[in-house]
Amino acid sequence: MPTPLIDQPFPWPEGKRCAVCISFDIDAESLIHLGYREEADNKIMTRSEARYDAEVATPRLLAVFRNQNIKQTFFVPAWCLEHYKGLAESILKDGHEIAHHGYMHENPNKLSDAEDRAWFRRSVASIEKITGRKPAGFRAPSYGFSRISLELMLEAGMVYDASLMGHDIPYLLKHPKGSLIELPSQRALDDWTYFVMSRDYNWMMPIAPPEHAFSIYRAEFDAAWRHGGLWVAVWHPFATGRLSRCEAMDQLIDHMKGKGGVWFATMEEIALHAKKMHEEGKWKPFVQELPYATGLVPALKTA
Ligand SMILES: [Zn+2]
Repeated sequence: MPTPLIDQPFPWPEGKRCAVCISFDIDAESLIHLGYREEADNKIMTRSEARYDAEVATPRLLAVFRNQNIKQTFFVPAWCLEHYKGLAESILKDGHEIAHHGYMHENPNKLSDAEDRAWFRRSVASIEKITGRKPAGFRAPSYGFSRISLELMLEAGMVYDASLMGHDIPYLLKHPKGSLIELPSQRALDDWTYFVMSRDYNWMMPIAPPEHAFSIYRAEFDAAWRHGGLWVAVWHPFATGRLSRCEAMDQLIDHMKGKGGVWFATMEEIALHAKKMHEEGKWKPFVQELPYATGLVPALKTA
């Protein structure tokens, strides 16, 4: 009998053992336009790879999900939804969720509060216009969750955030103005760690074979299955949508299904379930209050 490793087990629906969301961030060319601005027209190779993200890899991933009959979540900078015609429609047609990932992949904690608020709201408005509804959740571009991100999500009526790494199961993010559900992931489940090498992005990791990355994903999943965890991939179509990795993803889904008792769900479905369990008193969540602290810790203040 293994030692139970999660103190406050999460009540997954219908006696399921764990939840899985293979979430993808479709950043496409947003990063290049934002980072290189007038020079973006001279970044043809990197842009070809970025277009592959939206034009080739995403339809391929959608085909795998369709074949596996699972509904998942796509975090997309709103500019990408505006720019790549038919992208939003193709995702929604299969019953997947589209969630907030900035407007142009701007990094929130590198902006002023006013800029942060303006970009965030612009993205909400754009997603609402394109999809017909407001986004239910947010993943901060580049994990740049800012000092006002939680407040902005609460103002927009969101149910969840998916940017943080504070636990292995859903938890509650509290703020003086309200609270919402955090659906955490972790670095080991982000594919940039294994598959991205780009001078233009200033990201130079050695490319790993799919077996290496997927053995880590699988180990994390098997442990989540044993201990009742939440397994959230933070993947990118241009990286995981390449042929060998897409095959490995398909096989990993088969492995997960083979274990039994796995809840494949969108982030919104998981968050709404957590919210309901909390409201009905069936789950006592781990709570983090934001902001953590303001200013210098006392130990660093000069006398
Ligand atoms: Zn991103």
